[in-house]
Amino acid sequence: MRNQNKIVLDPPKVRGGNKIYCHFKCSGKVSKYFNENNFYMKLNANVESVPQSILIIPALSNICPVAWVTGTDIYVEEIDQEFLEALNTVKKSFQKLYPKHSFKGDIKYKKIKENKGYGKKKSGLFFSGGADSVASYIRKRHEKPYLLTVLGADIPLSENEGWSRVKSHTNQFAKMHKLTPLFIQSNLRSFLNERNLNKSYSKHGLRGWWGGIQHGLGLVGLSAPLTFIKGMNKIHFASTPLLSHNNTLYSTSWGSHPSIENNLKWGDTQVALDGTHLNRFDKIGIIAKYIKKNGSNLQLRVCWESKKGSNCGKCEKCARTMANLLSEGLNPSNHGFRMNKNLLKSMKKNKKSFMKLNKPQWKILQKKLSNKIPDADSEYYDFCQWIVKVNFQRKRKDFFS
Ligand SMILES: [Zn+2]
Repeated sequence: MRNQNKIVLDPPKVRGGNKIYCHFKCSGKVSKYFNENNFYMKLNANVESVPQSILIIPALSNICPVAWVTGTDIYVEEIDQEFLEALNTVKKSFQKLYPKHSFKGDIKYKKIKENKGYGKKKSGLFFSGGADSVASYIRKRHEKPYLLTVLGADIPLSENEGWSRVKSHTNQFAKMHKLTPLFIQSNLRSFLNERNLNKSYSKHGLRGWWGGIQHGLGLVGLSAPLTFIKGMNKIHFASTPLLSHNNTLYSTSWGSHPSIENNLKWGDTQVALDGTHLNRFDKIGIIAKYIKKNGSNLQLRVCWESKKGSNCGKCEKCARTMANLLSEGLNPSNHGFRMNKNLLKSMKKNKKSFMKLNKPQWKILQKKLSNKIPDADSEYYDFCQWIVKVNFQRKRKDFFS
């Protein structure tokens, strides 16, 4: 039994008041899925008074799925009672989402803790500045949620320039709406060997470790120490909408799913996935309505191509969001975008590949834009004209390819 999979977590340590370190030991084959044996996070808040059983939640949220998929038992000193229940539920949810993979392994603990009494009817919202989280903010704005922004997820830890841009974007948004921003830096992605995880498990409907498994549970778990300090009894996480070929929402197996986030809880805190019934047009519609009503110049950050924390203005997602804003009668230049001279050129040149992923959305945009073409002197005029006139239809014979 010497090579049996096993992960043993040491009690987490707080250093300098705002850094949490969680050291762990792996044995067996599961070791190859980790780059380092330390999980850490840094916050802009003092977390010295947070109990061990809450401090360990961020590490567990990111380690558990690796343990489950490899059938590994995890050993901890203390665990929060609610969180333990949540983990067991979420493990079953993953099993349902990915029936061809197996999610096994238990959490062995010495003490189970009840962490009650800190919740004060305050809420937190994960905030990346994209259409999803901005629309969720607008929907939950009466709660004045804390904004939780993470470095180490879509922007790598090493990207100082990108991080400072994202930080200033969140700060600006928080100031404009009189909110408190909370920043979390973590090695949640880099401590895992994502390459090996993808090599072993990106199959049978699981499309990548981060998107398919980690990002819902892993990100949400990071907020636990802050919820204790700030008295947040609710965490909102914006859902990622997808559009199917017949233009209706479909739920695909995805690391963010109502059966994951909505089952997460610890201490006094309950998590909710927001806006699952809304598609991207609905969300941009909510944002546009808010902008028009409040004369707001709020800035969106939607780009995943650029690691620098701003919109590249060249990728499909930037182009699609610009077109969507234009279709709502808004000027993208007022909301975080610039018209890139090369964009239209590359859209024309790579029409097929550019539009391939989100063709149903482009077709809807085409219709929506046709009566919203900006004036001929607008920098977006040619861009809109081309979208409205281009033929997205494929030939019949390759329709099902
Ligand atoms: Zn972009």
